Amino acid sequence: MNEVVPGILQLKLPVPLLGDHLAVNAYLIQGDQGWLLVDSGWNTNQAFSAMRNQLGQAGIGFGDISRIVITHFHPDHYGLAGRVVELSGAGVALHQVEKAFIDSRYVNMDSLLNETAILLRLHGVPEPELPNLQKASVGVRQFVLPVSPETTLSGGETIHQGGFHFEVVWTPGHSPGHVCLYDRAKRILLSGDHILPNTFPNVGLHPQSGEDPLGHYLRSLTTVESLDVDLVLPAHEQVFTGLKQRVNEIRRHHTERKAAIVAALREGPKTAYEVSMGIPWILNGVTMSFAELPALDKRLAVMSALAHLEPLCAEHRVQRIQGNGALVYAAAAEQ
Ligand SMILES: [Zn+2]
Ligand SMILES: [Zn+2]
Repeated sequence: MNEVVPGILQLKLPVPLLGDHLAVNAYLIQGDQGWLLVDSGWNTNQAFSAMRNQLGQAGIGFGDISRIVITHFHPDHYGLAGRVVELSGAGVALHQVEKAFIDSRYVNMDSLLNETAILLRLHGVPEPELPNLQKASVGVRQFVLPVSPETTLSGGETIHQGGFHFEVVWTPGHSPGHVCLYDRAKRILLSGDHILPNTFPNVGLHPQSGEDPLGHYLRSLTTVESLDVDLVLPAHEQVFTGLKQRVNEIRRHHTERKAAIVAALREGPKTAYEVSMGIPWILNGVTMSFAELPALDKRLAVMSALAHLEPLCAEHRVQRIQGNGALVYAAAAEQ
């Protein structure tokens, strides 16, 4: 196991189907009475074995984990938490916004599936394709053992763990209750999926995202940009320096996405689905067309297009017009 900072170990947990690509980085932080685990990986036997083996190499047992912080409720971060709780007795801390969504997301999923279908239909996904996109995430349910958080976070609290003092920084956008952990004295940021060194974190508009997830995301970039950080410990890919530069790259990416969407709409009015078909997408580092994406990524693409379209409307660069049942967007007349 990799000690990325004295007192902080990095676990590499594989992702189902993809192996090591986009492996999840969980972090173990040494305390006086046990270890703090940040994020858990997927609930698969492969990820569980990887965690157990890496803990074993460091001479740590599950019983030595005294608490768990989950940066956000996506299955790659939260999925295995229930199993770690069963073995360790540790309590889980999660942002209060996401605690409220656990049941609809991972236990009683029917109403969320219905809301997703309504949203996709409104935004032009054709009926034959709708069931595929609507149910694309149902399969990941098997990789999550839901557990109720013992502690709810709201941002602003400080978690003291051994020689570390982590401020909880609420960074909504990639998910509504995403949190980063910041040690001001040590100038370390555990960035979760908010900031990754290579990949641009997905930001999508969906039934649990709120109305302007991209606006939230960009404001959350500004929040972390203002922190003095020497080293970023992300939840995927490699530990990196140069946080401010990375924030600027991500900002530029979203500015370019918006420009590409406006350019696509200059060809004529389109639904969010049609916009998604007209712009390129990056999956696992490879640029591809919408048609080449797997169903779940198609859904993420439509929701990402929507996340960019709505603020474009607020900026008066795009207008909503009522189409034949579906919502259609048009480029505003050039000033
Ligand atoms: Zn995520
Ligand atoms: Zn992730």
